[in-house]
Amino acid sequence: MHKSFELFKYLKLSGALRLQNIQTRRMHVKVIKMRWLTGGVNYSYLLSSQDKTKSWLIDPAEAVEVLPNLKPEESVTIEAVVNTHHHYDHSGGNQAVVSRLVESSGHDVKVICGSHTSPGATDIPKNLQEYTLGDLTIRCIRTPCHTQDSVCYYVSDPQTGEKCIFTGDTLFTAGCGRFFEGTGEEMDYALNRRILDGVGEPNWDGTKVYPGHEYTKSNVKFVRTAVYKNLGDNAALDRLEQFCGKNKVTTGSFTIQDELDYNPFMRLDDPSVRDAVDDSQGSLSRAKVMDRLRKIKNSM
Ligand SMILES: [Zn+2]
Repeated sequence: MHKSFELFKYLKLSGALRLQNIQTRRMHVKVIKMRWLTGGVNYSYLLSSQDKTKSWLIDPAEAVEVLPNLKPEESVTIEAVVNTHHHYDHSGGNQAVVSRLVESSGHDVKVICGSHTSPGATDIPKNLQEYTLGDLTIRCIRTPCHTQDSVCYYVSDPQTGEKCIFTGDTLFTAGCGRFFEGTGEEMDYALNRRILDGVGEPNWDGTKVYPGHEYTKSNVKFVRTAVYKNLGDNAALDRLEQFCGKNKVTTGSFTIQDELDYNPFMRLDDPSVRDAVDDSQGSLSRAKVMDRLRKIKNSM
């Protein structure tokens, strides 16, 4: 009796401390919808340190949609405009946004991206290169395939343990980007080696995913039609399907571990995925499975 009371007290205390920790110190991700009226359903993100003195503005492709969403006190904290890849619906706003930010803040604003194809590029990070943004550490994970200059940005706060990753058009919730400049082998390497190793297994569970587009609903439809056809085939997919039935915005709600549980592009050796690509014997290479899976998705 006495012991369990002590335990209860301890749990209550540690819970309270945890809560306080979360309330007083946390990274901020402001989700900015872009190109939703024209069907692009893109996201731009303002990532800020816990005290909101330093920020990165990620993929602000449409200056007219992004700038009005930034408060003056937010604009002055932006140190860099950052691109996940060079496609215009991610990098097309770089120059207009940077010139407005420089004008209003009076300080330099970097353009961090995967190649000089992005307008105004100033910094081209190498794979696993790290940046510091206030209390945050940001690791650049290069993931060539959708484009050769695709970069995912893995953010962690060593003090709070919070983690997230901005994945552009490489990893979507329950999907992945088209292989415009790469092969199935490269996408397998990007998703299942580069991202997983770059984040690190102990962090998969707590790392929230922020993709470049809100494609979750159609991705779930694809997975339901092609891979896990019945309720109960994959409990994680069942939960995701329910969630996106109720929520139009799913970005930031799921983790890398969730993707490993339901995203067929990260489950290439799952017998259900092999069945879906007509390989019930499991004899195809992972690269071939990736190619076939993407082909099925493209045709839907
Ligand atoms: Zn793209």
